[in-house]
Amino acid sequence: MSRLAAVQQELDNPSDGIPLKATKNHIHATWAHTFSSVPELYFQPESVAQVQKLLRLAHQCRRRVVVTGSGHSPSHLTCTSHWLVNLDKLCAILETDEKTHQVRVEAGIRLRDLGDELEKRGLDMRNLGSINEQSVAGVISTGTHGSSLRHGLVSENILAFKIVLADGSIKECSATSNNELYRAGLLSLGAIGIIVEVTYQAIEAFNLSWTQVIDADHRLFSSWSREFWSQKEFIRVWWLPHTRRAVIWSADRSTEPTYNPPVSYYDGSLGYHIYHNLLYVGHFFPRILPWVEWFVFGMQYGFKNGTTNSAIQPSRKALLLNCLYSQYVNEWAIPLDKGPEALRRLSSWLNHLKPDHPDYWEPKIPFSADGIYVHAPLEVRVTNSAPATPEAFASRPFLDSSMSDGPTLYLNATLYRPYHTNPAVMPRYYEAFEWLMRDLGGRPHWAKNFLADTAAIEEMYGEDLVRWRKVRDEVDPEGIFVGPWHREKVLRGPILPLEERRGEVAETKDRTGATRVVFDVPKE
Ligand SMILES: Cc1cc2nc3c(=O)[nH]c(=O)nc-3n(C[C@H](O)[C@H](O)[C@H](O)COP(=O)(O)OP(=O)(O)OC[C@H]3O[C@@H](n4cnc5c(N)ncnc54)[C@H](O)[C@@H]3O)c2cc1C
Repeated sequence: MSRLAAVQQELDNPSDGIPLKATKNHIHATWAHTFSSVPELYFQPESVAQVQKLLRLAHQCRRRVVVTGSGHSPSHLTCTSHWLVNLDKLCAILETDEKTHQVRVEAGIRLRDLGDELEKRGLDMRNLGSINEQSVAGVISTGTHGSSLRHGLVSENILAFKIVLADGSIKECSATSNNELYRAGLLSLGAIGIIVEVTYQAIEAFNLSWTQVIDADHRLFSSWSREFWSQKEFIRVWWLPHTRRAVIWSADRSTEPTYNPPVSYYDGSLGYHIYHNLLYVGHFFPRILPWVEWFVFGMQYGFKNGTTNSAIQPSRKALLLNCLYSQYVNEWAIPLDKGPEALRRLSSWLNHLKPDHPDYWEPKIPFSADGIYVHAPLEVRVTNSAPATPEAFASRPFLDSSMSDGPTLYLNATLYRPYHTNPAVMPRYYEAFEWLMRDLGGRPHWAKNFLADTAAIEEMYGEDLVRWRKVRDEVDPEGIFVGPWHREKVLRGPILPLEERRGEVAETKDRTGATRVVFDVPKE
């Protein structure tokens, strides 16, 4: 009997009394439909015992195991031709401590469901990125961040987690227990084990009073300082590269009555479809993109510099955004004080500014910008996870992309894929953008569509990467959690016995335009 047939028999008639279901022909795609894959088997375990069992079976069958949350990572990080595991059914709230506001939850819970549960208890998440669709384990595994100098990565609120390792053993990890594993697992890239439970530090529910103003970008650059970025608890900017304007959104906690921002006829589906179609037309006539930027963001935020909007809303509502259409995203962390230089160099390059222009900063980007018109906005966000104490160091993920010695600026270069079609400028724009980011000491956001490879990452992380790899090799020597993405970005050395490889089958497009990734299809 083949190994897979033996596994099927065990699934049909469990010899250990642990039922486990697997699905075939499941199509897994990223949120943006940029990548998809068809795993050999797809599991949604409902208990930790089932997670342990599927790992046992995977060993028996010599298969790689990939875990996915909501599939919101824009790269092929969660794509596999082997076995895919999703923890959507491992999503219970296990315990709430009313005094400390600590909650113990199963790791597959989505942030939006965690938020709903916390709300019922008068609690809230301290910090969020732009969306709350992700799973708790997924969010911590790639270093998701929001925008605030008073906060670091979202994972800084994870006090402890339980992880099932390749051999099926369960380890409890925190700053004081299994510390190296804790620091590796806090940004695991799915390559350490399967996180099944986390302890999250919640806080009392709060409202945010926010204002949003659109202005010329040179005013942002001239007021740029640590004080500017910390004037309120949350602050984020959308930079409009061709029209050289910026939308500055900032928010502080408030106990005043809530109210929503004014809504115009253009907001909602009208504006959504107009922008979408203009982006599509921009594929054929890229020169119109600066005009599209002027029109769309003028309609949305105001044509006149200084136009302001405001509201007071529950934090969960205020912090979230509609990320619109399918997109590629390339986001990098650089030191905060490099911000004006980064944006001015990019602007001078993109807009072909001449040295006598008041906004000029020599781009020093060794690629031509001829014919390059890009999509707005470029997201400009901040975090601060520079550890202030030795205790804080003990909780810092080895692979935290933010700066360890000061505040961080995250720049996210978005390129939309209107109607799932790729923008032709992507390779050239991203090559130039990454060149600039690396020139400024940057490191890529792990989840996004970056080009940098293992050699570059080794330079950026040094000893921290060595320690992450050491932990990884110890807990998963056969590479059951390792695939082509890890090999391209973080691993070196011999191919591991269970590692999934790139394979010989060419990548193809499926009908949504996603790159259907076919790695080494399992053979008996
Ligand atoms: C529309 C959109 C908006 C976004 N906004 C932001 C933002 O504001 N800020 C930001 O920083 N990022 C943002 N992201 C990126 C996103 O937060 C990350 O990609 C996040 O990892 C996605 O979580 P997920 O649950 O979808 O995990 P997946 O993408 O499914 O998986 C991510 C990684 O986590 C691993 N993993 C998942 N579950 C487990 C588990 N139980 N145990 C071990 N490993 C596991 C996977 O193997 C994989 O390596 C955004 C992405 C999208 C598509």
